[in-house]
Amino acid sequence: MQDIPKSHPRYESLVLRERIAAAVRDGIAHETGLIAHGRGEAFDYLLGETSIPEARAAEEVAVAALLLAENPVLSVNGNVAALAADSCVALAKALPASLEVNLFHRTEQRAEKIAQVLKSHGAFGVFGVHPTAHIPGLASDRGLCEQNGIFSADVVLVPLEDGDRCEALRRMGKTVIAIDLNPLSRTAKTASITIVDNVVRALPAMTQSIPKLRRLPRSALEKSVGGWENQKNLAKVMAFLSKRLNALYV
Ligand code: ATP
Ligand code: MG
Repeated sequence: MQDIPKSHPRYESLVLRERIAAAVRDGIAHETGLIAHGRGEAFDYLLGETSIPEARAAEEVAVAALLLAENPVLSVNGNVAALAADSCVALAKALPASLEVNLFHRTEQRAEKIAQVLKSHGAFGVFGVHPTAHIPGLASDRGLCEQNGIFSADVVLVPLEDGDRCEALRRMGKTVIAIDLNPLSRTAKTASITIVDNVVRALPAMTQSIPKLRRLPRSALEKSVGGWENQKNLAKVMAFLSKRLNALYV
C-alpha cells in the first residue's frame, strides 16, 4: 500500500481508496467496486464525511431489528470485506448474527477469499462459499445464497447492496437493512431501514449501541422497529443535504 502522510488533509479518505485498490489487486473486490466506491465518496463529501443524526437514528433501529431477529444475517461483498471486515465480524459476534458472502460478480474463488478475510478477523463460520439456494426473481449467479443463511433469514443487513437484490429480498418478506451513502439509490429507497452513512462509520457505531439497546425490554425494541418510517427518515436526509449545500456558498 502506498505511503500516505498522516498530515494529508484527506488522509482517511485516501487510506480507504488505497484499501479498495489493494483489494481489487488481491482479487477480493471486483473492478466495478472501484466505481461504486467513488460514488460513495461523492455522497460522503456532500454529507460532510460524518454520521448525521438521521444515520444514527437508523443505526439504532437497525440494531433493534437485528436483536429481535430469529435468524439475522450480515451480507458481505468485496468492498465491505476490503473496508470493514473487522467491523463486520465484531458486529456479527456481538449480536450474534451469521455472516454470508454475497457477490454481484460471483466467482467461487472470490467468495472463498472473502470468507478467508473474515476468518482472519475472527469469524468462525461464513456462509455463501457453497450456495445451496437461490433468491427468487434474480437472474443467474446474483441470486445465489445459502439455505441456512440469507435464504431463511428474517433480517438481512446489506451494506452497499444492489437495488435489484434489495427488492428481491424484500419480496421474500425479509426486513432489509441497507447501508448506502446514496439516499437516492434504489437500494436506499426499497430497504426497510436505510442507513445513509459510510460502512466504516456505521458498523462500529452499531456494535457500540448494542449494550444500551440490549438493556431495553423487548417491547421497547419492537415499538421502535414497528414505528420506523423509512421514507420519512430519507426525506430528512435529503433536507439535510440540500440545507448543507445551500449554506456552503452563501
Ligand atoms: P442501486 O442499484 O441501489 O440503484 P447503484 O447501482 O447506484 O445502486 P451499486 O453499485 O449497485 O449502486 O451499489 C453501490 C452503492 O454503495 C452506491 O449507492 C454507493 O453510494 C454506495 N457506497 C459505496 N461505498 C460506500 C461506503 N463506503 N459506505 C456506504 N455506501 C457506500
Ligand atoms: Mg445497482
